[in-house]
Amino acid sequence: MNKYIQSLKDQNKLNLSTDKSISFKWPYTKIAGPCSVEGDSIIQISKEIKKCGANAFRAGAYKPCTFPVLDDKNGWKEGLKEKGLELLKESKIQSGLPIVTEVMDIRKIEEIGEVADVFQIGTRNFQNYSLLDELGKTNKPVLLKRGTWATLDEILGATERILVGGNKNIAICLRGVVGMPSYRHIYPSTRWAPDLMMILALKKFTNIPIIYDPSHACGNRDFVSGISKAAKALGCDGLIIEAHPDPINSISDPDQAINYETLKQIFND
Ligand code: PEP
Ligand code: MN
Repeated sequence: MNKYIQSLKDQNKLNLSTDKSISFKWPYTKIAGPCSVEGDSIIQISKEIKKCGANAFRAGAYKPCTFPVLDDKNGWKEGLKEKGLELLKESKIQSGLPIVTEVMDIRKIEEIGEVADVFQIGTRNFQNYSLLDELGKTNKPVLLKRGTWATLDEILGATERILVGGNKNIAICLRGVVGMPSYRHIYPSTRWAPDLMMILALKKFTNIPIIYDPSHACGNRDFVSGISKAAKALGCDGLIIEAHPDPINSISDPDQAINYETLKQIFND
């Protein structure tokens, strides 16, 4: 067992968000929004997402895409970047929801930090140590998404990197892992395997809040409600869900986005 994490736990120092703009612990954290900022529509979407019961809004302005060159829709290429951040700023003003958005590059921390209430570290950067070290020096909450390959120790190690910098405002986000593509003959878009047992393992060793991401864990909207219920039953402290007014036409992650109605049901469950 990781000694540093264990000692913090023993001293009851592994602790919870202190930032008043968002509590990872209470009330139950309900983060939702589209995968990415697609354009001006994001402002209206943020208000609708609030009506669905969310207490934080997610959307990426900087997006890591599998094919960075080919993915070019309406001038959107790996996100709207600076323009996307401006739109998120306006969404925050109009909806009143704190913003959760991804940072991929240490050179962008300051710029993104002007808009983000929570820095999201994506799965691809889960072990980007310079990024983790830099975010450890800030006092803004960090949502650390599990690498799709990561073991329990690797999750604790990445978390420790942020903690040792002084930032105790961390939540670990479980978002599915590589695994047997058991359903692909029926559902070609089940990209990852849900990693529900890790909720229990992390709860055993830390009191760091766990946010579950059923959208990426499933990669298919048909499973999002069920896996959300399961994650909640296992004691996760919150959910982060991709939702879109026209899910199948989402620019990124169209297979897993759910509509407002389904989101409302999950959040009211
Ligand atoms: C996302 O949240 O849209 C995202 C890119 O997630 P992940 O890093 O888990 O793939
Ligand atoms: Mn996504």
